[in-house]
Amino acid sequence: MGALDRELACKTHVMMIPFPAQGHMSPMMQFSKRLAFKGVKVTIIVPRKLKDSIQILYDSPLINLEYITYDLNEEEISVDMESYMGFMKLKITSVLTRILEKQISNGCPVNLLVIDSLFPSGVEMCHQFGLRGAPFFTQSCAVNAIYLNVFKGQLKIPFEKGLSKISLPSLPVLDPSDFPSIVVGTFPDLGTYFSRQFADLAKADWIFINSFDKLENEEAKWLSSHCPLTTVGPAIPSMYLDKRIPNDKHYGISLYKPEVESCINWLDDRDPGTVVYVSFGSVDRLNEEYIDEIGRGLLQSNYYFLWAIRDCEHEKLSTHFISESSEKGLIVSWCPQLDVLAHKAVGSFMTHCGWNSTLEALSLGMPMVAVPLWFDQTTNGKYIGDIWRVGVRVPIHESGMVSGEDVAACVMDAMEGDKREEIRENALKWKELAIEAMGEGGSSDQNINDFLTKLVSS
Ligand code: UDP
Repeated sequence: MGALDRELACKTHVMMIPFPAQGHMSPMMQFSKRLAFKGVKVTIIVPRKLKDSIQILYDSPLINLEYITYDLNEEEISVDMESYMGFMKLKITSVLTRILEKQISNGCPVNLLVIDSLFPSGVEMCHQFGLRGAPFFTQSCAVNAIYLNVFKGQLKIPFEKGLSKISLPSLPVLDPSDFPSIVVGTFPDLGTYFSRQFADLAKADWIFINSFDKLENEEAKWLSSHCPLTTVGPAIPSMYLDKRIPNDKHYGISLYKPEVESCINWLDDRDPGTVVYVSFGSVDRLNEEYIDEIGRGLLQSNYYFLWAIRDCEHEKLSTHFISESSEKGLIVSWCPQLDVLAHKAVGSFMTHCGWNSTLEALSLGMPMVAVPLWFDQTTNGKYIGDIWRVGVRVPIHESGMVSGEDVAACVMDAMEGDKREEIRENALKWKELAIEAMGEGGSSDQNINDFLTKLVSS
């Protein structure tokens, strides 16, 4: 734990406010555990129940980590990002007003608010409460660097038609299709909205990013020349990395109930490296044609597969596919993804390249079949395929579609042959580096120590 004064640390209280989505709550929960493990008191604020899904709060393995819940009802969730975020900001402000007063009267005042970068003017909000504020970014340094360029006006969006290669400081040369989809032009308003995550930069006391230095060396360096960047990732449960936090095997928060037994029992019956695990994350919806092509590719590749497809998507699977796949596949609504990625039967992960899934696969040394859909997934897909070389990118046609033939070919490349050897070797290298980053004295561990030392002594 280095120079951190434990006595002072336990008098320090950090409050964490994630955006209420799986991909945001999980890493901020994990960051909370890291801080609590190092001795500070942490309170994380999460919704009690979201949409029609359940929420499981496992007991925290750490006594100085507490949850406070607030009500968030389905009818309060707007599809329009701008109004939803405006609503969420009001909601969080009123929740915080109530909670902070209570904490003061309990003799446990808060020293720092760590707020999801998606909340508009989040740092300003922290300052309004008289507290220091630090945004937490749940996307990669590369993606943050792109949004920052948009925010500074150095990258004009939407892109002009016919633009080919684009070069930005610290990033590899990118095709327009490698940029986050909201920057390219499909949803320029969203692109502008996301770039506003950087509006608060100058006022932030720290900027936390769920990544690690060796993974995005240049990108992290460039960002840190613009803001007080602190890489603290990969924010995944300790048992998959350094194993220092006892019993820390799950994030501790899940919007869906994982079908643990059926997944693990089914995998236990398969030989090592024979299964493709498929998931498109917790939010995205695919159209039927897209799902058909993915299914066709899986069947054509002839590997076993475990497909986690949420209930709201399940009806899009054709009856033909369901009957054809009964021998080869297991379809579940939600699975314990980390346990699955760590299972010896799994040989590759077909992923939509959400940032958490990407970091999980990297940390567990799992080769990927990248099928990015939109948002930052497209940029993550580029890094998976061409920069870190830990996976095979499925070609996306101009129409936005994939073909079953391409899917099958990419699965086979990820599961067997020379290409597999190369990506497997790279994947294992990144696994070691991820473990190193979070281990004692690793770059992210050290960054967390340095941040805490400053926090507790100021
Ligand atoms: N996940 C899971 N079980 C599933 C599918 C996904 O536990 O069946 C988890 C996965 O481990 C990851 C998160 O859901 O932590 C998805 O986050 P990501 O950033 O990859 O994608 P998003 O859902 O935000 O698009």
